[in-house]
Amino acid sequence: MNIENYDVVIIGAGPAGMCAAIYAKRAGLNVALLEKNYPGGQIVITDEIENYPGFFEKISGYELANKLLRHCQKFGIEPQITVIQKIELSKKFAGHKIYTENVIYETKSIIFCNGANPRKLNISGEAEFTGRGVSYCATCDAAFFKNKKVAVIGGGDSALEEALYLTKFVDKLFLIHRRDKFRALKIIVDKVMANPKIELVLETIPLKIIGEKNVKGLTLKNVKTEKITELAIDGVFIFAGYIANTEIIPQEIEKDENGYIVVDKKQQTNIKGVFAAGDICSKFLRQVITACSDGAIAAIAAMHYIDSV
Ligand code: NAP
Repeated sequence: MNIENYDVVIIGAGPAGMCAAIYAKRAGLNVALLEKNYPGGQIVITDEIENYPGFFEKISGYELANKLLRHCQKFGIEPQITVIQKIELSKKFAGHKIYTENVIYETKSIIFCNGANPRKLNISGEAEFTGRGVSYCATCDAAFFKNKKVAVIGGGDSALEEALYLTKFVDKLFLIHRRDKFRALKIIVDKVMANPKIELVLETIPLKIIGEKNVKGLTLKNVKTEKITELAIDGVFIFAGYIANTEIIPQEIEKDENGYIVVDKKQQTNIKGVFAAGDICSKFLRQVITACSDGAIAAIAAMHYIDSV
């Protein structure tokens, strides 16, 4: 087993992790950036980013992720694709250990940037038909539903934005939401309301996804009348929010009641020298720009921490 020593190990190469790496490297720190998939995080599967300042012309999440990656590479940072098996925090300076299959990373500080994943509905048929009509990514799967009928579940920005994107492909889209009000921004709600392909199915929850080889329909329940109905559709896109990726986060790091890591204004957790940035943090606004900001703050705070010991 190889042992490698770093000033800072950044876990997760989404926007928060890549920005943290750029700032840490420019601050003169010896940086490792670990990622288990392709760099970019959730934005890789986002069709279009409309609100990242400076990119006022259409840019896809994938393109923005690649620009961030190239920016990292410009400073000599290459994300290491690896799966973390275990993390041991230490009271001793430079004693934190991150175990992967081939390397033990020993580090003075850690920045957790490992984000969040789509929340499952945990209804019958959801797991069974994932990849066979059930999807959590319109950008990845919309093309499979050309001229078909689909349902989108959720009432937040993701559900409504992705529903609008799906209407470029499908003939008909049922937007199913458990309340009669959306939490998405008004500008997006207005676009949905004006779209002739979208039919709203409000105050309704999905009970069951049905099908044979692929999805054929949804069993729905109106939460006001309790009436049960069946809807014939070819696909179900689920956008029910996200849950923090905290499986590898050590127990001693404080989390809020929803499982997100609690940080202070320097992005430091309750453990000195251990920071978190981006969607994994307990925070008010989860956006690319706030993830980048968190990453920059965490990197500079890590530098000050190392200098102060
Ligand atoms: P979200 O805002 O948490 O919305 C999740 C939606 O799913 C809510 O409407 C919720 O219903 C519904 N839901 C949750 N659990 C459900 C269940 N078991 N059954 C049925 N429905 C369920 O998540 P999001 O839309 O993914 O957005 C996440 C964050 O990213 C937000 O801060 C959002 O503003 C941001 N975002 C921003 C943009 C943008 O600015 N362009 C784009 C995408 C996302 P209730 O409303 O009843 O709770």
